Amino acid sequence: MATDPETSNLRAAVEQYLAARPALVRWRQWLAGRRYRVANLGGRAHPLFAIAFQFRDGKRAAELTQALEHDWTEVPAKCREAYDEILFQAPKLVVIQLHRTNVCKCLAHRHVAVREGPFAMPHDAFGGDHAGEMDIAYERVKTWQALPLSETALDAKFLEGSRLEEFHAEQFRLRLLSIVLHETNHLVQPGEPETSIRERSMAFYREALAAYTENAIATLSFTIDRSFSRLG
Ligand SMILES: [Zn+2]
Repeated sequence: MATDPETSNLRAAVEQYLAARPALVRWRQWLAGRRYRVANLGGRAHPLFAIAFQFRDGKRAAELTQALEHDWTEVPAKCREAYDEILFQAPKLVVIQLHRTNVCKCLAHRHVAVREGPFAMPHDAFGGDHAGEMDIAYERVKTWQALPLSETALDAKFLEGSRLEEFHAEQFRLRLLSIVLHETNHLVQPGEPETSIRERSMAFYREALAAYTENAIATLSFTIDRSFSRLG
């Protein structure tokens, strides 16, 4: 997807800002294993997401980046449209602290104030505004029973096609994406009740997963048909 100039400006400004911090501060953070990645939602100008993670969680941070930059562009248009207004009102920069797990067993939280050092105070690099912040506990996301019945039915379909691993990776990324949208919704509309925010994010997840499955199964039967015809 094409990236508009405003997108690359904000992104470049945040990257420059991170690189321009005092060497001692950057070294201390580096040695403590703190790393950052920035990602847009597909080609959207903002919000820009800054993923803060520990070195050992690099693979998960890469998956979250893929969900934001790529999977978002592949979900049905109506899934994206449901978040248009919310994303339009979102802070220019949203920090996502990626954790393995957390004590309270929640999937994610929004933070009232930004805790991640470099983004705690408003800065010109991210539009002079306060950033938003959330955390996500990815081990919880992995084991989350989001749609217990239909997800088990889908597992069975992919098991037949031995593409279960690929399906689980996509499923995990779509869950992450729906959680980022859910928490962004809370940041933008703090007065909206949990039930309606949850309904929106679950509809996103359900429809995005259904569209992915439909597509994957169409390709899968095509492959099976071909191998059968080779036998015949
Ligand atoms: Zn919530």
